[in-house]
Amino acid sequence: MDLKKFNRKAASKKKELTKFLKKLDKIVPEDMPKLVAEVDKTVWEEVDCMNCANCCKTMTPTYTRKDIVRISEHLKMTPKEFTDKWLEKDPDNGDWMNKKQPCQFLIDNKCSIYEVRPKDCAEFPHHNKKPFDMYNDTFIQNVHRCPATFMLVNRLRKRVEKEYEW
Ligand code: SF4
Ligand code: SF4
Repeated sequence: MDLKKFNRKAASKKKELTKFLKKLDKIVPEDMPKLVAEVDKTVWEEVDCMNCANCCKTMTPTYTRKDIVRISEHLKMTPKEFTDKWLEKDPDNGDWMNKKQPCQFLIDNKCSIYEVRPKDCAEFPHHNKKPFDMYNDTFIQNVHRCPATFMLVNRLRKRVEKEYEW
């Protein structure tokens, strides 16, 4: 994955894709879930997260209490030692998040705590959320950071504009 190339392409299309996602808040094609599933399948035939890890490099997951207990146990630390060392609270909503990016657990482009990683990481990039259009704000935040989300939204835009009254 050439992330420099991706960053340039995503920056040039961000406005256009954000406009599409915002419009999707108001006009939702009837068979959206089917369309998303179909297009998403084509994305994962081309994207390999093992060659990317841009989410781990540029964003932070949020950690639930359960995540903190599970991961700290795995690392043989107390939850307090774990949060003191790696996490801070989001001043806006109180969520636990990483102090720094890239994520401290990303080693050699791989997650070193993969089996016990936060739920947020396990579910990322959230393409399977239902209904898809309820997560437009998340996709707007991620479209220029996650090549898979970028590809999904760009392909959805083309399909919707071609096949629906839009
Ligand atoms: S915990 Fe693992 S999957 Fe989650 S951001 Fe860190 S390195 Fe990436
Ligand atoms: S989820 Fe997106 S940003 Fe993260 S590794 Fe996969 S393609 Fe890259």
